Amino acid sequence: MKHTKKLITLAVVTLASFNALSGTGSDADTVFYGGTIVTVSDKQPEVTGLAIRDGSIMAVGDQAGILQEYVGANTRLVNLNGRTVMPGFVEPHLHISATALSDYVMLNLSSFELPYDSIDTIISKLRGHIAKLPAGEWVIGFGVDPARTQPFMAELTADELDKASTTNPIFVFNQSGHIAYVNHKAMEVAGIKEDTPNPGNGGVYVRDAQGKLTGVLNEFPAFAAFARQMKPTSSEAIVDAYMKTVKSMAATGITTSSEMGLGAFMPVEVEHAMVQKLSHQADFPIRVRGYYWGISLNDKVAMVKPNEGDDKFRMIGVKYIADGSTQGLTAALSQPYNYPKGTANRGALDWEDEKLYSTAKPYFDQGWQISVHSNGDRAIGQALDVYALLQKDQPKSADRRLRIEHFTTATEKEIDQTQKLRVVPSMTIGHVGFWGEIFHNHLLGPERADRIDPGASLAKRGIRFSYHSDSPVSPFGPLQYISTGATRLWQTPPRQVLGPKQRVAVDQAIKAVTLDAAYAMFMEHKAGSLEPGKWADLIILDQNPRNTNPSKIPDIKVLETWVNGKPVFVANELP
Ligand SMILES: [Zn+2]
Repeated sequence: MKHTKKLITLAVVTLASFNALSGTGSDADTVFYGGTIVTVSDKQPEVTGLAIRDGSIMAVGDQAGILQEYVGANTRLVNLNGRTVMPGFVEPHLHISATALSDYVMLNLSSFELPYDSIDTIISKLRGHIAKLPAGEWVIGFGVDPARTQPFMAELTADELDKASTTNPIFVFNQSGHIAYVNHKAMEVAGIKEDTPNPGNGGVYVRDAQGKLTGVLNEFPAFAAFARQMKPTSSEAIVDAYMKTVKSMAATGITTSSEMGLGAFMPVEVEHAMVQKLSHQADFPIRVRGYYWGISLNDKVAMVKPNEGDDKFRMIGVKYIADGSTQGLTAALSQPYNYPKGTANRGALDWEDEKLYSTAKPYFDQGWQISVHSNGDRAIGQALDVYALLQKDQPKSADRRLRIEHFTTATEKEIDQTQKLRVVPSMTIGHVGFWGEIFHNHLLGPERADRIDPGASLAKRGIRFSYHSDSPVSPFGPLQYISTGATRLWQTPPRQVLGPKQRVAVDQAIKAVTLDAAYAMFMEHKAGSLEPGKWADLIILDQNPRNTNPSKIPDIKVLETWVNGKPVFVANELP
């Protein structure tokens, strides 16, 4: 009798859990079984069966139950053969247009391989490129980074660039996008003379001790005079590059990406119309959440309404930039950089507090999510002060999720305020991997470097945070971000752990590229975990990252990427 009762109880529990998890009792389009389903739901982190229908998840659970309950005559059965399904990755901070331009339109000088390029190598790459161009045509390059160049911190000055050409104007973006290098011809064409004043809003035409222009430009306002002289890229070339970019993003498992600066490289309405059109093409693989590039907005720009759009493409925010790049020594720190020795440089703020507040306020009041790029602790403090003012009159229940991008050198003081104001930080975890050794040994010193991208400090307080690439600043590929967040290994040999105390558990790092990244973009009710009612945005991996040595997670292969219940990427060679 006792035995029977136990059996009945078990059956009831099983049925009850199915009723709770399932929508209707009808047949699934597709059922996954025969492997591991990593749900990113604390309720049941791993299951063995998943049923989807009409682009949504019907049920997750034990495969026997799923197979019994949801398989009908037309259901496609996917036997995972031991592979792993997990939610598609959400990329909360990436510049799709800038990545498309830097990867496919500009001369790409970026390298994340070792050893680093020397200035001579960069000049000879430029020469090779210029040899194929008509005289006088602009040369636009991307991805030079003195912190990752030999010799260390060698700067690409106008004098150096003149060695590549004195007749073609040259403009090369730093890897961070916040600094650029031009030759003398470019300054002549752009009309920048020794007595030209700096353009404001953080824009600087850098001058040497004698007051002479060096050819180094800081921040976007300083790029404008040059951009005006460049021939616009054809829309066909941009569309082609854009499609290639989103397809390669899907191949790394990204199912939703932000566009973190609509209007940064193209007229804002033109870019909006392009993304609107492309994102609804049948071959456009991913979902996009858009943020306007704040300084491109003015009364004449025809903006859409906050949250206007659909599941595929929706505009949600306005983004501002409070400081520069930490590896570029332009991020606004409270204490001076450690390089060069004895320097008083602690970077610069792009805005005065009041100006940033009054510029962002109308958009905040309209209902836009505000996002501020702040790398240095001084800039993070500024963004937080502005956010405190913006939210001053908000009801306690208001869920505005104001974002801070990068959050690189946040101290416990800023983290306190982040928690109090319910601000959502997102971190460029590639800073740890690609620049960790440089921050530690040269630019910040061990103490400050060890706690950049302070994931563990945030997790301890229950603050939801995300990891991102900020591509083209660092390469996209969320499996790498998980690995770096969990190991904090820097890339340069001998590889070391940058601040072991800030390592996070693999599950936490997974959340930072799925559920909590979705939270940063108001999508957590539909994306970021595999739960009934959510979108069937998922990936199939050859290994389960939860059972993989964290340093080996980047070697895991993305075999398939599905968006809205359909495959949008399938790897060529299935093992
Ligand atoms: Zn960015």
